[in-house]
Amino acid sequence: MSRIRVEGLSRRFGQVVAVDDVWLDVADGEFLVLLGPSGCGKSTLLRMIAGLLPPSEGRVLLGEADITHTPPQRRDLAMVFQSYALYPHLTVARNIAFPLRARGLSKEAMREKVNAVAKTLDLGGLLERRPKELSGGQRQRVALGRALVRDPGAFLMDEPLSNLDAKLRSSTRAEITALHRDLGATVLYVTHDQVEAMTMATRIALLNEGRVEQVGTPSEVYDEPASVFVARFLGSPSMNVIEATVQTAPDNGGGLSVRAGGVDVPLDVAAEVRPGQEVLLGIRPEHLTVTTPETAALRGTVTAVENLGGEEIAHCQAGENRFCVRGPRPLGLAAGQDAHLAVRTERLHLFDPADGRRLAWRPASVTV
Ligand code: ATP
Repeated sequence: MSRIRVEGLSRRFGQVVAVDDVWLDVADGEFLVLLGPSGCGKSTLLRMIAGLLPPSEGRVLLGEADITHTPPQRRDLAMVFQSYALYPHLTVARNIAFPLRARGLSKEAMREKVNAVAKTLDLGGLLERRPKELSGGQRQRVALGRALVRDPGAFLMDEPLSNLDAKLRSSTRAEITALHRDLGATVLYVTHDQVEAMTMATRIALLNEGRVEQVGTPSEVYDEPASVFVARFLGSPSMNVIEATVQTAPDNGGGLSVRAGGVDVPLDVAAEVRPGQEVLLGIRPEHLTVTTPETAALRGTVTAVENLGGEEIAHCQAGENRFCVRGPRPLGLAAGQDAHLAVRTERLHLFDPADGRRLAWRPASVTV
């Protein structure tokens, strides 16, 4: 398996800059997920790496080889697409064997390879069937088999699960993760689904309008989002982001607090913020808890409560601001009533309203 490096890759379509100066280093054996909203440039980036689209600028390296201008069939990469693109007239065995045809292997060697891949993907009993006799999940496994049999330097996958229903998506997700673990394969995987990204990736690269916003492990991007965009993209319901002002808090031992309508969150020690500064205060719904009126940092009115079975989500309004609370059911909040909420201050986030970037701060309890 091989490392993939992307150096300053850009692609323009007329006036549209689909990919803008992207740098990525996908380590040997890593599962890197390219995540972002529709139109952010994920597929364009993957297609350039696959060799299906020439870049406007930049380089692609596989291992130590510069493959920027290598034709796709000579790149040691296997692509798995959203549409399975199987040959309808060929059996499963022949579909899987297809990439081996040009290699001049003996029939026996080919059969051995196909059988090994079929065993890995649990397709052994289906080898003589044709694609129309398979379920969606089985077809996607055949498409994976066709990529696996090539024994490539790395796998490129473009939303391979998006045609599957929710249950199959979850089981196929687990299969791909297990495959990655067992083979130690290098995988570059495109999705707009945050659950796929969080559960499968060793690292996530978040793309926004053709640029990389942040690269990090799932925990890093969730716990310390580098920008409001990343903060809002990950998490459901998304992070509460409230326009607020930093003020000195006489009742907080000379410390600071972040205030907005109905909001007064103590911020004990702040590194990059000063009194009077406008900030965006970010609080994940699961970091709010119901408390007494005296100790509340957020006060508002509950507008609706959603029952998710194990958990509840309460929607609240405080002045101009709306926010969500999420927690085990029952939360103790009811529509039409007052909400008094405490914040896990060590988990709150501050962003610069000018550019949306994360601001550094630290709670008093953490000594540096
Ligand atoms: P999705 O998740 O919807 O597939 P994506 O993140 O993969 O989106 P891309 O398909 O890479 O996004 O598209 C990035 C941008 O480039 C979009 O604005 C798209 O309209 C534009 N684009 C892509 N291909 C072309 C093309 N062939 N001609 C013109 N514009 C294009």
